[in-house]
Amino acid sequence: MTKLTPMMEQYRAIKEQYPDCILFFRLGDFYEMFFEDAEIAAQILEIVLTARDGGSGVKVPMCGVPFHAADTYISRLIAKGYRVAICEQVEDPALTKGLVKREVVRVITPGTVVDVSMLEAGENNYLVALAENESAIGLAVIDVSTGDFQATEVSGPEASSLVLSELYRLRPAECLIPAWTQRESILYEFTEKFQNSVVTEMDPTYYQYAWAEAKLREFFEVEDLVELGLESCPAAVIAAAVIVAFLESTCRAQLKHLSRIRTYQPREYLGLDVNTRRNLELTRNLKDGKREGSLLAVIDCCRTAMGRRLLQRWLEQPLVDVKAINERLDAVEEMYNSFSLRERIREILGDVHDIERLAGRIGSGVASPRELLALKNSLINLPAFKALLPEVRTHLLKKILELDTLEDVYRLLDSVLDENAPASIREGGIIKPGCNPEVDELRKLAFEGKEWLLEYEQGERERTGIKSLKLGFNRVFGYFIEVTKPNVHLVPSHYVRKQTLVNAERYITDDLKNYEEKVLSARERLVLLEQELFQVLREEVACHVSRLQEVAGALAKLDVIACLAETAFRHDYVRPLVDDSDVIFVKNGRHPVVERFLGSESFVPNDTYLDDKERRLAIITGPNMGGKSTYMRQVALITILAQVGSFVPATEARIGVVDQVFTRVGASDDLVGGQSTFMVEMVEVAHILKNATRKSLVILDEIGRGTSTFDGMSIAQAVLEHICSHIGAKTLFATHYHELTGLDEVLPGVFNLSVSVKESAGAVIFLKKVILGRADKSYGIQVAGLAGLPVGVIQRAGEILRSLESKGGVDKVEAINASNVVQLALFQEEHPLVEELKQLELDDMTPLEALQLLYRWREQLVAPSKKGKRNKRGGG
Ligand code: ATP
Repeated sequence: MTKLTPMMEQYRAIKEQYPDCILFFRLGDFYEMFFEDAEIAAQILEIVLTARDGGSGVKVPMCGVPFHAADTYISRLIAKGYRVAICEQVEDPALTKGLVKREVVRVITPGTVVDVSMLEAGENNYLVALAENESAIGLAVIDVSTGDFQATEVSGPEASSLVLSELYRLRPAECLIPAWTQRESILYEFTEKFQNSVVTEMDPTYYQYAWAEAKLREFFEVEDLVELGLESCPAAVIAAAVIVAFLESTCRAQLKHLSRIRTYQPREYLGLDVNTRRNLELTRNLKDGKREGSLLAVIDCCRTAMGRRLLQRWLEQPLVDVKAINERLDAVEEMYNSFSLRERIREILGDVHDIERLAGRIGSGVASPRELLALKNSLINLPAFKALLPEVRTHLLKKILELDTLEDVYRLLDSVLDENAPASIREGGIIKPGCNPEVDELRKLAFEGKEWLLEYEQGERERTGIKSLKLGFNRVFGYFIEVTKPNVHLVPSHYVRKQTLVNAERYITDDLKNYEEKVLSARERLVLLEQELFQVLREEVACHVSRLQEVAGALAKLDVIACLAETAFRHDYVRPLVDDSDVIFVKNGRHPVVERFLGSESFVPNDTYLDDKERRLAIITGPNMGGKSTYMRQVALITILAQVGSFVPATEARIGVVDQVFTRVGASDDLVGGQSTFMVEMVEVAHILKNATRKSLVILDEIGRGTSTFDGMSIAQAVLEHICSHIGAKTLFATHYHELTGLDEVLPGVFNLSVSVKESAGAVIFLKKVILGRADKSYGIQVAGLAGLPVGVIQRAGEILRSLESKGGVDKVEAINASNVVQLALFQEEHPLVEELKQLELDDMTPLEALQLLYRWREQLVAPSKKGKRNKRGGG
């Protein structure tokens, strides 16, 4: 085997411990990568792949990035799903003989990123751990950048769908599962479904309760798990402990901001399964998964990133507790009613940085001087918030504004940090003048030495008699004395010549060298001292991290409430009456997203009334493009908004709280999962029928369409009957099976709604108005025409439809008169008559000639069909 150089040997030993990471190996001012890491990184980062002698003359692939610009390169690798291990020189090369000691100081993975430049400001970045025992699935989730740490455990038949829904909500950047996970395991299935998250396999020994319990007690410094609320959820304990162990092994630095863990139950919130979350486009659109076009995008006008993240969480976890919902609504209403309160709060919020993530970086020991400065400049605003306390009357706003104003932390930061503290700790300029006498002293030495230099220069001029003698400085040999050629004979013997120019000579002297050393060492000492003082300051502030997190939480809430009030004000939303009733009543409801895109003047508002008696299940019929889907989604979105605690786009609304919202919308294949369109549809319907309750809201947008008409219609009717007689959920059911509209006469609680159209001069005008009663037509062919299907196809479809309608069934299709095919051919391909028509010189024809020609053409067209002959291109 090739003998490696000592440094490559050191590299190999370290890389062996981090085989699944790209190793950033610090060499002077660069992080170098070698071997396969270099090949991968060079390609992704688009940097030059070179080679280095690895020993015995063998070249190994290498590439590198400057250490001061490493963050952007790391973030690109992380975005591609790679992990990066940062290996630093842990000894001062200047003081070391031979090879410098190196160690991995941090492993950055997609789920452990705390660097702001690698994160979306308005979005959480979650790391999830899953654990499974005989009876339950545990899920722990953390956003390391904010310290938000939660755990839950679910069991029972719907456990896996609950976990899937949670995973869809959280969209983890990284998912930890036990290394032995089998393909058959539900955990494996989850990771298959969430291909966007990086899956990290963990040592199976972590997945033991005794170890996990001890780990959590030690980490959170508690005697008993009761203090964490985790005493009765063993699977959640294991999942949480796995996260702690993973963070301890990757972050290496402190985790002071992870001081608490919150347990929750998905059932505490409005149940939204994966399909519903996706179909309703709550936080991202269906098309490309981006925020634009989602409900979140149209209601978000938060002033802080903390607020934006919280708004997303609220939207994805609407409440079911009437009291809690109304508490939020009260606060939103108070802000809605008081323009000046809202304006002042939003204005001050505009001056507040992301305290939550700053606290995270301080707790992790990585915050920069400029970040502490941003914290200070944010904290200065806290008293202004508190001063508003006497003005507010609602419980939630009072609770928020009674905030800790953190004056002690502000004073601490203010007393130490310079007003212009830099982003880097390597340049000094961090510590405020007057804060530390030693810093002041060194600064004087390092930067205020000009006087000494001027005096020295003047003295040397006088001593040598060379009037043009001057001092200079360059990077190569520091300070020097420059003497022009004609004066060189006057230069004293202790001047040491260093450089010859065309017209002058440059010298150094012992005095100059001593001075220079003093200055340079003062600068070095100053930087080190400032670094030390800064670290002390950061650690002191880190002791207050949980207070910072409290304040961040309060301000995020304030921001969200102000945002909801502002949105309501700008877009004419109204406070819904939210109660425990069984009614969903909406007057002049609008779809919040469609309305925004169409403009409020173009959107047609619609009413809704659902209850648990006569109006439980609405069958909605009407034309394609009539607005059925929009209407049903609008009802779901208004219900969700109300349960978030937001005003709603309507002129009046009463929402009896629902426990779950289900949607079955549109068709999609799950080719990877091996399911056809129809199968996917049926799986979704089965899930709804299994899980919906009397308190649920169910939206079914066409079911049974992916199979034969009679099969589909039968399934649709049976599903309706089942919901009606066994579940009793409030349901909106859009269908083109007009045959189903008769069910209102046989099934209690079923009623018909339709979207109205106006037919004028053969054209259809969609009124988008939802009215009571059934529709008798779908106008599918007209809509297909509007969509641009060839005229011939549309005419042919019309013929077939008329024939089907007159003959009353699909099995009569063949019986349609072939003559129609001939007739329609005129529009499908260019008919010879058309060519003739184009060539006509109309101006040269008499009216009689024109009439005769018309007769002849008609004969040509009619004659073949009279004879019963098939003629593909017609007569002529
Ligand atoms: P299909 O049966 O073909 O699925 P649909 O009845 O479900 O059609 P939608 O998809 O809801 O129809 O609506 C069609 C288009 O009409 C929407 O894209 C939207 O732009 C517009 N629209 C829907 N509802 C309204 C409304 N209330 N006011 C104005 N425009 C609307």
